[in-house]
Amino acid sequence: MVEFRQMTRSFGRWALDALLPPRCMLCGEMVDEPGRLCATCWPSLDFIAEPLCPCCGTPFAMPMPGGLLCAACLARPPHYRRARAALIYGRGGRDLVLRFKRADRTDLAAGLAGLMRQAGGPLLAETDLILPVPLHPGRLWRRRYNQSALLAQALGRLAAKPVLLDALVRLRPTPSLGGLNRQERKRALAGAIRVAPRRRSALAGKAVLLVDDVFTTGATSNACIRALQAAGVAAVDVLTLTRVVRPDIV
Ligand SMILES: [Zn+2]
Ligand SMILES: [Zn+2]
Repeated sequence: MVEFRQMTRSFGRWALDALLPPRCMLCGEMVDEPGRLCATCWPSLDFIAEPLCPCCGTPFAMPMPGGLLCAACLARPPHYRRARAALIYGRGGRDLVLRFKRADRTDLAAGLAGLMRQAGGPLLAETDLILPVPLHPGRLWRRRYNQSALLAQALGRLAAKPVLLDALVRLRPTPSLGGLNRQERKRALAGAIRVAPRRRSALAGKAVLLVDDVFTTGATSNACIRALQAAGVAAVDVLTLTRVVRPDIV
């Protein structure tokens, strides 16, 4: 009976998809395929492309000799191995994030993950496990879904890699980190994120890919990475849909 219900539900979903024409992820205009943007919205996306810092993925204004890191990574080596993002957080990139996160547009996950795969191909290829940045259960209850978990699942399907949704746990909600300096951000997040004890053995010695919608200061991913390193992971890469590119906070 359960199976039958699942079958009818997936058939219903398929029938609905077949009936409804694919729409632009931003404005709803009709497009050729699902997960695409129309010709008007496409130019509003600022794709992050080479040349970029091989560590943090910040775009360079001009080509640099191979392997040269940006000044910020040289001054303070990040906790992650590599970070990459598909889009700069601004204009269309910001609109996409807000639509996905705040407007119940969970159907965008596959299209957005497609953009992330283009930006993070080598990271995906070299990872053992994909993990989303966790949301506090209280916030999850209010928002009904964790946007990072949806992106992680969609990326796992695209790259045929395992996804562990419950490896990282947020023990308390974190206040907005905007306006805080580096030390204050670190204090606000101290002890907020842990590895679920039952998942420690699955993580030991693994290369993991941490997935989120926005990379801002790196404070949240650092909190996750500290917890993962304590659990014995071998390496952590970070892949986000968008990244704030502001030299003053790097
Ligand atoms: Zn559009
Ligand atoms: Zn860098």
